[in-house]
Amino acid sequence: LSPAPRRPIRELPDELVSQIAAGEVVERPASVVRELVDNALDAGATQVTVRLLAGGVRLISVEDDGVGIPHDELGVALKRHATSKIASLSDLESVGTMGFRGEALAAISSIAELNLLSRTAGQASAFMLDGRTGELRPAARATGTTVEVKELFFATPARRKFLKTDATELAHCIEAVRRHALARPDVGFAIWHEGKLVDQWRAATREQRLADVLGPEMVDESVAVDYHAGPIRVTGRAGIPDASRSRSDHQFSYVNGRYVRDKVLTHAARSAYEDVLHGNRQPVYALYVEIDPARVDVNVHPTKIEVRFRDSREVHQAVRHAVENALAAPRAQQAAGSPL
Ligand code: ADP
Ligand code: MG
Repeated sequence: LSPAPRRPIRELPDELVSQIAAGEVVERPASVVRELVDNALDAGATQVTVRLLAGGVRLISVEDDGVGIPHDELGVALKRHATSKIASLSDLESVGTMGFRGEALAAISSIAELNLLSRTAGQASAFMLDGRTGELRPAARATGTTVEVKELFFATPARRKFLKTDATELAHCIEAVRRHALARPDVGFAIWHEGKLVDQWRAATREQRLADVLGPEMVDESVAVDYHAGPIRVTGRAGIPDASRSRSDHQFSYVNGRYVRDKVLTHAARSAYEDVLHGNRQPVYALYVEIDPARVDVNVHPTKIEVRFRDSREVHQAVRHAVENALAAPRAQQAAGSPL
């Protein structure tokens, strides 16, 4: 085998660079939903409405009542590495927003048709940016932003082939919104599909939101978690052992308001149940870890679903103790009140 003749090194065109980056950020419609809802929450929205057609493949529209984007910044919002959320390395080391990489809108607009409609409180009218033509024109809208994403992966047919049925993609989109809804009970959410309301959650307390999203048994068959150790606070609900399931689909972990999938947290929570759950039974929980942002690195993966803790032992212990204490509390009360 003779090696292929060497070709000169060239910088890739911007469009192709964005399409490569999009491969990391956008796996399916639900990834777009997650990014757009993150942006709405970062903008201070109190109501977020998600509208989908064909499981999100034909259309994803996310509408918020946040601060909006000034008309002269709509164009730059679509550029790569353009963000209003960090400006320096020290900002990066203590990120307080969901976004900070300035990649999502650029990535999405390289693999779909993206339109931005936005109005800030100071503007007399809204403006609409057509992502394909770059045309900017006045439009009608109250303060806030609507991002419209059409024909996902239209330019990357190889990618489009990996999509599942509309029903499956819709289910993933709903799951993405549920994760946000559990993080932000103070915000109202609505999801529409093909013109029909699929789910709607009004602003509520955390307990009420958990019941609204996951069912009343999520609260009735769980105990409150509230634990503080040094720089870490753990709150939420831990299901009683009888509420355990055969699947781990009712396990939600958050770090500083961000939904994460993290081995340290999962292991810590599971180990708190080690004496009371046997075999493959999976506990049910929603745990919210608040930690000094300087002690956790969220810049590990483009989707930010993974985090790295500076001291994972300290986090493991806190979560384990938080859940153990919560589970022990009602048993102690039971014992005290029991005639046995
Ligand atoms: P990031 O969220 O990492 O900053 P994005 O590509 O998701 O990057 O968004 C780029 C910028 O566009 C944001 O920093 C923000 O200033 C602006 N933006 C995006 N979506 C919204 C929104 N819904 N409301 C207000 N501003 C937004
Ligand atoms: Mg973002």
